[in-house]
Amino acid sequence: MAFDKEGFSIDRKAGREGDASALAFTDDVRRKTDRLYPAVAQFIPEFEWRLHAPYIAAINDLKAEKNAVILAHNYMTPEIFHCVGDYAGDSLQLAKEAAQTDADIIVQAGVHFMAETSKILCPEKTVLIPDMRAGCSLASSITGADIRLLKEKYPGAPVVTYVNTTADVKAETDVCCTSSNAVEVVEWAAREWGSDTVLFLPDQYLARNVAAMTDVRIITWAGSCEVHERFTAEDIREMRRATPGVIVLAHPECPPDVLAEADFAGSTSGISNYVKENQPRDVVLITECSMSDNVAVENPNVNFVRPCNLCPHMKRITLPGILRALQTGEHEVTIDPEIIRRARAPIDRMLALPLTRQSMYTHEGPAEVAKVEARG
Ligand code: SF4
Repeated sequence: MAFDKEGFSIDRKAGREGDASALAFTDDVRRKTDRLYPAVAQFIPEFEWRLHAPYIAAINDLKAEKNAVILAHNYMTPEIFHCVGDYAGDSLQLAKEAAQTDADIIVQAGVHFMAETSKILCPEKTVLIPDMRAGCSLASSITGADIRLLKEKYPGAPVVTYVNTTADVKAETDVCCTSSNAVEVVEWAAREWGSDTVLFLPDQYLARNVAAMTDVRIITWAGSCEVHERFTAEDIREMRRATPGVIVLAHPECPPDVLAEADFAGSTSGISNYVKENQPRDVVLITECSMSDNVAVENPNVNFVRPCNLCPHMKRITLPGILRALQTGEHEVTIDPEIIRRARAPIDRMLALPLTRQSMYTHEGPAEVAKVEARG
């Protein structure tokens, strides 16, 4: 079972809402869910499974009835990721699945910007997010108006934004990227726009990590992920002292000095692939808490050292919330059609790029943090 830095059980936190309005664990529920339990048994004790299982059964029944799919991000808790998610992965993988699904309803088990991305790619479908408060510190750090001011300040420089942005920001963007393709997208944009400078927004840490891997001049923004920026280089050194020989895998939203202490840095899918391919004896994933649980299911011979940071936004998505969304149609994500039209182009550009490798990161590069009048 995973614990956050304050020592709380992640699964217990995620299950609180279920405790308050528990459905019954009937024979019918047991019949529908027994085959799912082995995958999550190492994280969810049986007494807790009896709280989750009725929701899992009801959600899977309703998905079939309503032709709905659930897109589950890697940071979802195991009972969501493994037991109700139809497609699982990082932001890029989920965006691709959203673009291809023939379901009528998409339930986004992730945060709001991901649901917006699904709506942009599938405007004719109903896209639901179980909790409208599931935001993101990166997405809320910048607005479309900020981008317009930056374009005036750096004319001719292409705008590359992380997918962790709102639809309004994407509408002002030239090409989107994720942490799995950021370096390649930046270099493509520089070539395509004939510019030695790229505006890479809004994650200042990812920008510095990208800048270390390219000769393109990077202008960034003072945004950050509130989960990954809490890790420190001293945390890593402490983990190495506690577990000699441990392999440290870090997400590139962490500060550069954290990545400098890691053995490998990559997106959540890059981290997951690293574990699968290398099967380290002991590993620690320097990212959101649920990631270790979800990767551990497919790697039973790897020992996962579990210190991690919890994303409070991701943890707003719970089984009771997903069930309510399917039952009531709450909360539907709507976006102005003109914004959808403009926001789709940078996502389509990213999805069309023939990217042949995962971006990898090593150390800090020279990114310049931009300031515009609107932000002082
Ligand atoms: S982990 Fe960070 S980047 Fe991801 S949703 Fe949470 S705050 Fe945003």
